[in-house]
Amino acid sequence: MRYLIGSDKYHVMGNWNGIWKAQAPHKARHLLWRLCRGCLPTRSRLLERRVECTLNCPMCDEEIEDELHIFFRCALARDSWSAAGLSAVLHNATYQQTNAMDRIFAVCSNESSDIVGRVAMLLWCIWQNRNDKLWNENVQMRRQIGRHVFDAWNDWYSVHKLQSNNVSGTTEADLVRWEKPALDWVKCNVDDAFVLDLEGPRWDCVFAIIMVTSWLV
Ligand SMILES: [Zn+2]
Repeated sequence: MRYLIGSDKYHVMGNWNGIWKAQAPHKARHLLWRLCRGCLPTRSRLLERRVECTLNCPMCDEEIEDELHIFFRCALARDSWSAAGLSAVLHNATYQQTNAMDRIFAVCSNESSDIVGRVAMLLWCIWQNRNDKLWNENVQMRRQIGRHVFDAWNDWYSVHKLQSNNVSGTTEADLVRWEKPALDWVKCNVDDAFVLDLEGPRWDCVFAIIMVTSWLV
């Protein structure tokens, strides 16, 4: 076991910190990690593991589906880049390496964690859309995917910033103490929490949980 853990055989050189520091939901960072570790089940990876399947890309049906094709070369993926606001980044000459892992590591090394996070979210949406087409026959417009990425990342970022601000410092709410209401007044104490659910097949699931904690007269 010690041999396996310390073995260089399983070590892949790259900017792994750049992936984990990306400003994105964990599932999007995890997708980048899986992609760079070569364990995303594209059709070419499945064939490597002796799973019998057709090799063509399920989106365009024109080329072999590997990581480079499905995320960077497929016409459907490329059309979603501009709606996501990432066309200039991904068309940059600095990021035209011949395999997907090198492209991702190059983006991680040269771009801010916000941009890396947006790219991670884009790739996650492309992969979800691919799976939705493959298993459910659901097809989204190309621009819709990019627009989903743009909106979902902004929503996630807003909530994330709000939460980290609340955790890191003393907020105005912390300074407000409960006061007994004056006579003839009804006082309602409300505690609220907002959870952004990005796990579902659609991006528009925002749950608002509002708990009325007490009613005092
Ligand atoms: Zn394709």
